[in-house]
Amino acid sequence: IVHMENIVKRFGRTTVLDGIDLDVHQGEVVTLIGPSGAGKSTLLRCVNGLERISDGRIEVDGQRLSYSEADINRLRAHIGMVFQQFNLFPHMTVMENIMVAQREVLGRSADEARERGETLLERVGLAHKAKAYPGNLSGGQQQRVAIARALAMDPTVMLFDEPTSALDPELVGEVLDVMRTLADEGMTMMVVTHEMRFARNVADRIVLLADGGIAEQGPPEQVLDSPSSERGRTFLEELL
Ligand code: ATP
Ligand code: MG
Repeated sequence: IVHMENIVKRFGRTTVLDGIDLDVHQGEVVTLIGPSGAGKSTLLRCVNGLERISDGRIEVDGQRLSYSEADINRLRAHIGMVFQQFNLFPHMTVMENIMVAQREVLGRSADEARERGETLLERVGLAHKAKAYPGNLSGGQQQRVAIARALAMDPTVMLFDEPTSALDPELVGEVLDVMRTLADEGMTMMVVTHEMRFARNVADRIVLLADGGIAEQGPPEQVLDSPSSERGRTFLEELL
């Protein structure tokens, strides 16, 4: 559902991604790991058009990304992105946060948008917080709202960039649980995370990025327990 071919991304003279080939299939959960600066965030940002690739080809849902404004808007409407920082609108209630893009981008009526919002808040365990403001929620609750907001757009793929890194340790679990349920329900997901237990238990495939390329990829046991590259071994040893 996401097809990446020879992705090159340069910032000025620095090459951050140097020819990445990666396909993510319908219903697949791919976890991206790798050292800081490896280009994990950049890769996700290329997938949803926040960064423009320097070379190569990206297709989402069979459509090649052309970077026309219409194209980018269509793309963003179908890709859910959840960041480390929750990025909720502070002056809007939880429900308003979840409704705004449904109305403005998908053209749903207020009733439709609210109904979808209620279903999703229920799903992330926050039905009782619909009228609260983000500032009055815990980080874990805010992140679950951010996930519900992304899901409200009926995305074909969900991108997560270290969704639990900014959370207090005791709040990490509730967010990972929501993500695990999504994965079980068949959502296509690309997840950058340092949570190796999540990667091991939930990912169909782990991709280890290093030095601008894919150093290692495969099922979790293979990548985590018997990495085949020197780069992979060093990175995983440093994690322990
Ligand atoms: P981390 O684990 O720390 O989040 P990462 O793997 O997500 O790291 P990226 O944020 O993708 O790494 O950054 C990869 C490289 O690209 C880094 O060297 C970073 O400094 C550089 N970079 C990222 N964004 C820009 C930008 N807008 N302009 C210039 N350089 C950038
Ligand atoms: Mg990053």
